[in-house]
Amino acid sequence: MNYNDLANMIFPDAKDVSYYENKYKKRDLPENAIVTRYAPSPTGFVHIGGIYQSLIAKTVANKTNGVFFVRIEDTDQKREVENGTKQIFDALKDYNLLPDEYIDENDVNYGEYGPYKQSLRKEIYQAYAKSLIAKGLAYPCFCTADDLTKMREKQEQAKIRPGYYGVWAKCRNLSIEEVVDKIKSGADYIIRLKSSGREDKKIKHHDLIKGNVDFPENDQDIVIIKADGLPTYHFAHAVDDHLMGTNLVIRGDEWLTSVPLHLQLFFMLGFKAPKYAHIAPMMKQEGDSKRKLSKRKDPESNVAYYKEAGIPKEAVIEYLINIANSNFEIWRKQNPEKDIKEFDFQISKMGVSGALFDMVKMLDVSKNIISKLNAEDLYNNVYEWAKTYDKELKEMLDDKEYSLKVLGIERQGIKPRKDISKWSDVKDNILYMYNDKFENIKDNLEFQKINDKNEINKILKLYLEKYFDIKDDKQTWFNKIKNLSSELGYASEVKEYKQNPEKYKGHVGDISTVLRIVLTGRCNTPDMYEIMQVLGEDTVKKRLERCI
Ligand code: GLU
Repeated sequence: MNYNDLANMIFPDAKDVSYYENKYKKRDLPENAIVTRYAPSPTGFVHIGGIYQSLIAKTVANKTNGVFFVRIEDTDQKREVENGTKQIFDALKDYNLLPDEYIDENDVNYGEYGPYKQSLRKEIYQAYAKSLIAKGLAYPCFCTADDLTKMREKQEQAKIRPGYYGVWAKCRNLSIEEVVDKIKSGADYIIRLKSSGREDKKIKHHDLIKGNVDFPENDQDIVIIKADGLPTYHFAHAVDDHLMGTNLVIRGDEWLTSVPLHLQLFFMLGFKAPKYAHIAPMMKQEGDSKRKLSKRKDPESNVAYYKEAGIPKEAVIEYLINIANSNFEIWRKQNPEKDIKEFDFQISKMGVSGALFDMVKMLDVSKNIISKLNAEDLYNNVYEWAKTYDKELKEMLDDKEYSLKVLGIERQGIKPRKDISKWSDVKDNILYMYNDKFENIKDNLEFQKINDKNEINKILKLYLEKYFDIKDDKQTWFNKIKNLSSELGYASEVKEYKQNPEKYKGHVGDISTVLRIVLTGRCNTPDMYEIMQVLGEDTVKKRLERCI
């Protein structure tokens, strides 16, 4: 019996690796083309960090005419949830981040390097595990969970580095005959790597984001094939990224310390290792300190949050690019109208430590983006959102012609309104423009400086009788409000009032505030003239008369 026989005994059906090496041809791409991927586990929660990672991966792949693919990493089947894969792709689709190659929720593969789902690649991993066993570079381990616990306890007591390595790796030195006997007797086993690394030796790694980092070599005989026949993440990653032609692995920096092991796996398998770029996590400010954006504590860590709140995808993407390359902000200021795709994104300019994820800033970005939409685009977006998330708003918007006018208020000019940062802000912003909604507002008007009933009545009456004419242009309308003010003893210019406050009851601003409150229930609104034009003569009159 030799290693080859042992390999055949353990994986009798596994193909020779040359089969896969021939099947998955080297990609025919330009020299600098980047082939990269997003490799999520379908755990049912799509973290905003996943969108961030995909955005970076897709951007660098596109920029170099390379390939961005998605591989579903579902070898830990305990963590998998139903629909997990669908949720991932729905999110990617929402953000226009669909990959060039992937597997869909019905297990249909798009691309030549599939299956793009690890649970469907079992026989591939077994072929490579077999090749390692045949070379004496991997071995079956018969240690039970109990054996491993005892080992760990001993290591802890002796204050020794934990793990399965060196003298602790009990099954490493079993003879082939011993192994065969155990297998024949039906003992359970897993497959471990026979590590060639030494803890007292260092490897040098150059990370595209983190720079030069040195690590001790890996000397742990890690598990490569588990009891269920599926590979561990580490082993699968090496086999997959080799066969799929990945030349740049972009992933979260929680994997940085696995680099020595991963490079070792590539080396022992005879593969060329890819480059790595480890992304720092997004951070959240909490009091004086920063912590990772947390799935448990921060609703904004979930992509579903943005959809529900109605934050436009363009805003999320723009904000994420902003976090990834801090020079984006200056670029955007200099190029307010340019397509984000024209920005020269550089992975090497990403921060070594985690950037702060700040919702206030994201909403600010969003506000700007929304302010540039015309009424029709705004309408379409809000209507689409309302169909799922706000029935009442949807019904208001069903009257498209009127709603377009409402949404068009202060939208066209050079200084468009910036009071909407998400679709869910819209209803509250426009409620008073709809008569049936105004019904609920009109009885609770809170007046400001002028709050005497008789005085208010006097203002409204005079305005209605003498000054209100819906056909007036803006200047005439405004002059009339000034005249109304003077006639009632208020300064027609704020400046005048400030110079001689004792001469006046107040100023033109106080008068327009009264009109604003009576017509809208608010003391802050966009342009009153435009509002009155959209409400129309009847409604304006009715609202004024009602109040009187
Ligand atoms: N499945 C791993 C994860 O969920 C992927 C790590 C990698 O990209 O290599 O983080």
